[in-house]
Amino acid sequence: MKTYEPITEEIVGKLKKIVGDKFVWTDEDHLEQYKTDEETDPRKFHRPEAVVAPASTEEVAAILKLANAARFPVTPRSGGTSVSDGAIPVCGGLVLLMERMDKILEVSPEGMYLKAQAGARTGDVQQAARQQGLFYAGDPCSADSCLIGGNLATNAGGDKAVRYGTTRNQVHAIEVVLPNGEIAHLGTRSKKNTTGYCLDQLVIGSEGTLGIITEVTLKLLPQAPYKSDVLAIFTDQDKATGIVPVLLREGLNPTSVEFMDNAFVRASSDYSKLNLGHYEDGSYVILTLETFDEEEMDRKLIKLDELCQANGAVEVGMADDRVWTLRKNCLESTRVLSKVMTSDDFVVPLDKIARTINELSREAQNYPFRVFTLAHAGDGNLHFSILKGDLSDEEWEQALDAFHAKAYQYVYAMGGKLSGEHGIGAKKVKQLAALADPGELYMMQTIKKALDPLDILNPGKVLAVY
Ligand SMILES: Cc1cc2nc3c(=O)[nH]c(=O)nc-3n(C[C@H](O)[C@H](O)[C@H](O)COP(=O)(O)OP(=O)(O)OC[C@H]3O[C@@H](n4cnc5c(N)ncnc54)[C@H](O)[C@@H]3O)c2cc1C
Repeated sequence: MKTYEPITEEIVGKLKKIVGDKFVWTDEDHLEQYKTDEETDPRKFHRPEAVVAPASTEEVAAILKLANAARFPVTPRSGGTSVSDGAIPVCGGLVLLMERMDKILEVSPEGMYLKAQAGARTGDVQQAARQQGLFYAGDPCSADSCLIGGNLATNAGGDKAVRYGTTRNQVHAIEVVLPNGEIAHLGTRSKKNTTGYCLDQLVIGSEGTLGIITEVTLKLLPQAPYKSDVLAIFTDQDKATGIVPVLLREGLNPTSVEFMDNAFVRASSDYSKLNLGHYEDGSYVILTLETFDEEEMDRKLIKLDELCQANGAVEVGMADDRVWTLRKNCLESTRVLSKVMTSDDFVVPLDKIARTINELSREAQNYPFRVFTLAHAGDGNLHFSILKGDLSDEEWEQALDAFHAKAYQYVYAMGGKLSGEHGIGAKKVKQLAALADPGELYMMQTIKKALDPLDILNPGKVLAVY
């Protein structure tokens, strides 16, 4: 693996000159705090040598110029909610915090856009849009703790992607500091654009390997006045997953179609101290409809009820916010059951999602770990939470590798991919190298080398360190 130069006292002094003495840390507490993100396995932790919090795009640029001159790696970090080891400084060096760049700069009701610094909290972006009667459609379940730049870097999905698409669909333009410290303004607010390469979309979803996003211009939408959440409960998991293609085919255009298996229903009900029915035997499908017309909502709700009943639901009812508390607590609810766990993020074409959930969750029963299944079912995106429990490190690794080998093969045979929304991070670098189309891998490596010849920015993420 490539070796980098250490961050010396002299470099720390230069960093302090760039951002101010108060915003560079080398003390034990900070180095310990930033050795991981949502990763729970201590074997994956890496301590940085220093942590820095710039306040402007120019400061970010100066830090990257210094990093190239002194040859130390830089890991950008927003909310640190990555579940793919994306914010872990796997090669040491510097962790660069985005949290001071947190301003909402402009909300334009006329132009229906919002400009913010990349360190603005996603929940604050949503709130700022709401205050103007508008709506920002990006909504990962971590919206209260992640930052908008982190969402762009990972092309985050979430509960509303069925109707509105993922984060990349919500973006007009970005400002980005390239690995060598140059500043680029990419994208446009115009509806059409064929003016050269589509570089904004290349940077979005590149997980901080091609540039540090410092400012974002986001699309806003009108807020639909009518919104209904529905909980459909099934006691037969195959029927629960089988409802997804039916709903999408019938033109209901749902905003959310979320699936929780019975293991997640129990875990999250216990964690949230809620019981919404069929705790013992139910799989849940949570559906959200939005309309601009009351009668249209009534018609859609009747149709939804009919379709769920006809496809085997044992209960269909209007749901309140408690159903979203259950859904959003899923990940946390399994954390209390096992200190070490991992979360998969497969994505398959929509017509394959029911089959994939059912076959892979059945396959998972053959291994000595506990598996909980969750899906943004309307996007074909499946999350398995796999718990280490009392297994030894060796047993855990063996079982996980054996399951993953089967699961990856299955998902790719279905026309799917390794990650629907969490990204490759450091966690799936080897798998991407093994599974990606050779031409695709060649393009990724060539672009990375061209923009970051010294492999300074977020090395060891998406691609192996060269
Ligand atoms: C409880 C929970 C629920 C979740 N639900 C969802 C969900 O519904 N949908 C979903 O997609 N994900 C979800 N996630 C995963 C995670 O929240 C997303 O990946 C999120 O977009 C990460 O944002 P962050 O601000 O925490 O970024 P971080 O974790 O800090 O960083 C993520 C990656 O982006 C890079 N990066 C960060 N900021 C920048 C920047 N400004 N410029 C360039 N690169 C940068 C980092 O180096 C890292 O590689 C969930 C996580 C948790 C813990």
